[in-house]
Amino acid sequence: MGGSESRTDGLPQRLQALIDAGQQRRTKGYCGRFAPTPSGPLHRGNLRTALISWLAARLHNGSWRLRIDDLDTPRLRPGAVEAALADLRWLGLDWDGPVILQSERRGLYHTVLSHWRCTGKVYACRCSRRQLSRHRLYSGFCRDRQRGWGWEQQRLPAWRLRVAGEFAERCGDPVVRRADGYIAYHLATAFDELALGISDVVRGADLAPVQTVQEAVIAAMGPISPPRYQHVPLLCDTQGMKLSKRDGSQGLPPRNERPATAEAEVGRLASGLQLISPGNALSAQDLLQHLRLRPELFPYPVSPDSSQSLRDHSGQTTPH
Ligand SMILES: [Zn+2]
Repeated sequence: MGGSESRTDGLPQRLQALIDAGQQRRTKGYCGRFAPTPSGPLHRGNLRTALISWLAARLHNGSWRLRIDDLDTPRLRPGAVEAALADLRWLGLDWDGPVILQSERRGLYHTVLSHWRCTGKVYACRCSRRQLSRHRLYSGFCRDRQRGWGWEQQRLPAWRLRVAGEFAERCGDPVVRRADGYIAYHLATAFDELALGISDVVRGADLAPVQTVQEAVIAAMGPISPPRYQHVPLLCDTQGMKLSKRDGSQGLPPRNERPATAEAEVGRLASGLQLISPGNALSAQDLLQHLRLRPELFPYPVSPDSSQSLRDHSGQTTPH
């Protein structure tokens, strides 16, 4: 043995070892994460999601990882990573371990992709955008057509994952490598949740529709439970109305223009979430202490035994 191939149905040994280590970590307790895309400054809504995710992890006495989803290089903005880290630090949201950059993990994702290509789990799709727009889910048009993998008419194919069972009806065959050659977000994200041992994903409601796709990708990596997903509502005011631009939902003002202290910002976010009454300023740590004493105020499930819920992954989202 000693080669990189192990099981026909699983992943190459090196990747399998990373996933196994992640699963091992998951048995040790709650691990959350925040994974911004550095395509611009963090919005106040992003920071609010980060705050909820951080609170949930800390209330579980769990860890909280910071991952930068920076694979889609044309969308990246210079300095956005540094600015995101500075904003999180300013807010008092501390993360565990090193910052993980997806751009430094491309080799791992490519190994998954080439393994899947060798084992026939992915196929080349050359459908045009127009063809695709006719169907809500991908029809499987290219599934058995043996489309070429190389350049044809100045285009590369997208790589689609063959999914079966419930996923075929729920999401169709997802793209795991885009036609422009980029690794698809769902592939990298699904692999990382497993390899990093993420037990709970808390993210914005705008990402709720991709949960099934990510679960389909995870299912293709082996008989592994996906993390628990929780999608939190987009930024609202205390009356439950979505904030308008003039309320500052478009982003945190640049540091030097911010009228508020970090405590005022935490207070503002926390009162918007009805965790504290309006008009208070407090640090993230003080907010955490407050919620440790009053856990019933935190409306996002903090179960005493998260491993229990981990085993029960029926894939439902909590509609908030
Ligand atoms: Zn196709």
